[in-house]
Amino acid sequence: MTSPVDQEELALFRDSVIKALETEVKPHYEAWEKSGLVPRELWNTLGNAGMLCVDVPEEWGGCGAPFQYSVVVGEELARMGFGALSTNVMVHSDIVAPYLSHMGSEEQRQYWLPKMVSGEAVGAIAMTEPGAGSDLQAIRTSAVKDGDDYILNGSKTFITNGQHADMVIVAAKTNPTAGARGISLFLVDTSLPGYSKGRNLDKIGQHAGDTSELFFSDMRIPSSALLGGEGQGFMYLMNELPRERLVIGALGVAAARGALDLTIAYAQERELFGQKLAQLQNTRFEIARMETDYRVNQAFVNQCIAEYERGELDAPTASMAKYSATEMQCRVADGCLQLFGGYGYTTEYPISRAFMDARVQRIYGGTSEVMKEIIARSVLGRG
Ligand SMILES: Cc1cc2nc3c(=O)[nH]c(=O)nc-3n(C[C@H](O)[C@H](O)[C@H](O)COP(=O)(O)OP(=O)(O)OC[C@H]3O[C@@H](n4cnc5c(N)ncnc54)[C@H](O)[C@@H]3O)c2cc1C
Repeated sequence: MTSPVDQEELALFRDSVIKALETEVKPHYEAWEKSGLVPRELWNTLGNAGMLCVDVPEEWGGCGAPFQYSVVVGEELARMGFGALSTNVMVHSDIVAPYLSHMGSEEQRQYWLPKMVSGEAVGAIAMTEPGAGSDLQAIRTSAVKDGDDYILNGSKTFITNGQHADMVIVAAKTNPTAGARGISLFLVDTSLPGYSKGRNLDKIGQHAGDTSELFFSDMRIPSSALLGGEGQGFMYLMNELPRERLVIGALGVAAARGALDLTIAYAQERELFGQKLAQLQNTRFEIARMETDYRVNQAFVNQCIAEYERGELDAPTASMAKYSATEMQCRVADGCLQLFGGYGYTTEYPISRAFMDARVQRIYGGTSEVMKEIIARSVLGRG
């Protein structure tokens, strides 16, 4: 059981994150969106500013802050309209680092975590393959034991941070006939021979986002790269996915706040029919609807964050947070864009980016349909 987080201190931390993002990210973000990738040095900048892996314990190079501090970094990236970067940082800090903190050997933690905190190493996690997305057990990437090593073969796709990654947690079959019990996880050092990456994928939103195909061709990795026990990979993924889904939900809530703030300001300025847009009843009702939608989801996600801090968040509840918050984010982004009229459809207005960036939130980390299946199973049992 953890002690409650001091909300005043958390607010001070939030202010410091906002200030750092105002100077280090905001002036450059447009250019990164156009070039299609954030620069590698940004990771070092974020690390130096204390914004990566903030809840990693001190003995492994972090500052041992509560989980909520890590959420705040992602929330501010999302709220300020840096959707691609919020995804990249979330994967590094809130998905990859916890696998090491929770399942890594002391040697693995000492080797990777301090570098991930400083930004010297960028982390990624590779589950999805061209033939295996929602159906994770269908992965074909294989890791075959050879003396003291494993030989890795296969390919992955849609891997966040794939361009910049120094270490990728790779899900591979160590026993192709054992189903879920045949999957293991490996901490793959991307500097080793046999590793290659494809181009950064073109996406309809999150343009600065780092999303790649990865290839492993007779890649020899040492046994010491195995994360936890052989054959335990699927169980580890199931244990860690609730945190990933909760954080995606938190990013969705924060991004909706950002979209609403833009829209409220616009509605109070734009004039039509001799009055402000904000005075039309439809605008007032739409803002009321979306503000309510936002608040209800914010309250639920905050409740889930508290449950996670207490070690009580279960998989169906985390799925509810992701499902509900990301669907709300898309509803709000669409409703907000509508109030901007034609201007909302131009890339000049940031609301258009909020709309395009939102869409993937219902897909990655488990689609809304997969979330509904998990929730339904907890209510009705297997169909
Ligand atoms: C920008 C981006 C970043 C990503 N980052 C990563 C990453 O870092 N690491 C990683 O491993 N993966 C990553 N992914 C992959 C992502 O998790 C998958 O795209 C997602 O899980 C869906 O898999 P799929 O694309 O193969 O779709 P499919 O699994 O083929 O799904 C197709 C359709 O079937 C539906 N469906 C699936 N199962 C069911 C069911 N049981 N009942 C009803 N309908 C169902 C789906 O909801 C969907 O509508 C990323 C994807 C994107 C787009």
